Order: sequence, then structure tokens, then C-alpha cells
Amino acid sequence: MIPNNVPPVAGKELEYIAQLVNGGTLSDGGGRFSQQCQSWLEERLGCPRAFLTPSCTAALELAALVLEIQPGDEVIVPSYTYISTANAFLLRGASLVYVDVEPETMNIDASKVREAISPKTRAVVPVHYAGIPCDMEAIMEAIGDRKDIYVVEDAAQGLFSSYKDGRALGSIGHIGCISFHATKNVTSGGAGGAIIINDRKFIERTETIRDKGTNRPQFLRGETDHYIWQRAGASHVLSEMQAAYLWAQLEAADQIQAQRLKLWEFYRQNLAGLRTKGIGIPLECTRGQHNAHIFFIKLRDEKERRQFTLAMRDKGISVLAHYGPLHRTPPGLQGRHVLHPQDYASQESTRLVRLPLYYAMTIDEAKYVVDQVQNFFE
Ligand SMILES: *Cc1c(COP(=O)(O)O)cnc(C)c1O
Repeated sequence: MIPNNVPPVAGKELEYIAQLVNGGTLSDGGGRFSQQCQSWLEERLGCPRAFLTPSCTAALELAALVLEIQPGDEVIVPSYTYISTANAFLLRGASLVYVDVEPETMNIDASKVREAISPKTRAVVPVHYAGIPCDMEAIMEAIGDRKDIYVVEDAAQGLFSSYKDGRALGSIGHIGCISFHATKNVTSGGAGGAIIINDRKFIERTETIRDKGTNRPQFLRGETDHYIWQRAGASHVLSEMQAAYLWAQLEAADQIQAQRLKLWEFYRQNLAGLRTKGIGIPLECTRGQHNAHIFFIKLRDEKERRQFTLAMRDKGISVLAHYGPLHRTPPGLQGRHVLHPQDYASQESTRLVRLPLYYAMTIDEAKYVVDQVQNFFE
């Protein structure tokens, strides 16, 4: 069986965890591995500060707290995304505005963002689906000179991708959120994430709210001899044990990425011909460099997707659908919807499947998948 996804193993995870078990500093937020991971992110993304969080969901929730989103505020999200993008803001009482996607990339459609903006808009949350950049330029243009609208990039899938101007995904909006879930390109051992602070005015608030509303981070740095409660806060720190796991993966990131990109490109080159049969195959990325997070294809309709999924299963290949449109769910029906007449989020999501793609996958395995996919369409 060729699984759809297998979490990467870099090699040094156990060694680093053993160092902690044998007398390392376990203190959350203050340990060596947490610091190393955060510095690595800051350098790699070119952002002033990055903080590890228990998940990307937690990072998004922290972003909503930092931005003081409240009832009456509108937050714009793509309809085609993971539920956490919406939940984080719904939990603060915001009214969500579900915006349609571009059919080619499944990313939020900037022209619809422009249409969705109202005097109540407080945040726009673009999701870089499959690690392929959203049209950030057009999104920023749509916001124009409105200083009361913040951009929170849901870059859960976007680590190692960059926009065409060279900036890393997650480092373009005021805040970015990244995931180290087991299904992402690198993992902190199952769950984990990071919040990326690009606008310096949010650094102090983020640091404090993330650590129970205290100045404990300053205490850990030795800047004060005790810490106090300063404001309402939460606990959005990642365990040091998980940071150790993540550090092993970040050290191996270039190898992991090289293999993923090789597999992704192999799929693209060998399946491009199916486009003439009406099958959706990714085009070359014109908005920058993607990170080979997902290789998706689109069948002609939902019925064919079902047949395809079963046929691949018979050949020992796991292919998976992905999100359904949020605007058609019970919570989503309560929000405002800004859609194309075709409702691409609904239409295109029923055609999409993800082919197997993971670090330990070999080119021989990818070739087997390509052969079976091609056989299906003959
Ligand atoms: C994975 C993912 C999340 C959630 O990440 P967790 O770390 O599992 O909380 C949020 N948004 C998108 C787009 C994702 O792909």
C-alpha cells in the first residue's frame, strides 16, 4: 500500500529528546530547542519574532486574541479551507465572511476579497493552499489604505514557500500562522505550530498573551527577578520535548524539501498530458516558489472522483479528497457569502484529490502512481 502521507523522520529526533530526558531544561518557552527553532524561523522567514505554539489552530486563536477581534467585527476567510481558519475568529464572536476561491489554485480570490470588504472588516485571512502563494499583491491592494484591517496569513501549509518578491509565506501579512502537524512537511511530533509576528507593535502583546498574560518570558531571559500577571492571557506555548523533535526536522529541512520537490515535479511532468482530457493538473507556479506540500489533481466530476479513488485503492494507492466548502456547513450558513456565480469553492472541491506525497516516498513509487493514474484514463 502506498499511503497518502507519512510524517517525515529526520533521524536525530530520539537523540534530542534523550538529551532532555537526561537532564535538559524542560521549561516551556525557555528551553534551548524552543529558542533554536524560533531563531531558525526568524532567520528563514525574515520576521522580527516567531513563537512556537501547540498547533496552528492555537496560533490562529492567539492571533485573534492579539488583534482583539470582537463581536461586530467581520473577518474574511476563504470558503475552501480547514475549519481552524474560521474557528479562531468565530470563538471571539466575529461575523465570518466566506469568500470564493480561484479555481486554478483553490486560494482566496482577491477580486472577491475586494467585494467582501465592509466598514466592519477587521481582518482578512488568506490561506496558501497546498503551499502555493495567494495573490498577496492584489489582496493588499484590495485593503488599500484601511489601517484598521489586519492580514493574518494562514500559512499552515506554507513553510518553505516564498512569494515572487522573495518574501517567505507567513512573513507578508501582519501576522502569519504555521503548522507542524504530522501531515505537514515538517512536524514537531504530531501537533505543533508557530505564530509569526511581522508587525513589531504586536510582539509584546503576543509574548504576554501566549504566556498566561504574564511577563514570564522576560523572567526567563533574566530581565526581571519575578514575573507578574499583566493582562488576560492564555497558554499557547509548545512543550520543549516537542521543540526537540521539531529541531531535528528543521535541521534536515533542506533534504526533506529537496525530496518533496523532486516527487512533485515528477508528478507534474508526467501527468501534464492529462490536461487535454479535462483533468486538472497544477500549472507552473507563477506567484513564487511553492513547497510541494500537496500534489492535487481534479477529476471531471464527483462521480469520476469516486471511481478514481476506488480504482486507486484497488491498486494499493491511497488518494484523498480534501475540504468541503465551509459556507455550506451549519456554522458557515450563518456567515456572509461572497461567491462567484459558479461557486468554485463547492464545485471544484468535489473534483479534487491528493496523490501520495511524503519524504520517504521514492521515485519508483511515484512512477507506479503515475502509471496507475494514466491507466485509469486510458
Ligand atoms: C493544518 C492546517 C491548519 C491547522 O493546523 P494544526 O497545526 O493542525 O492546528 C489550519 N489551517 C490550514 C490551512 C491547515 O492546512
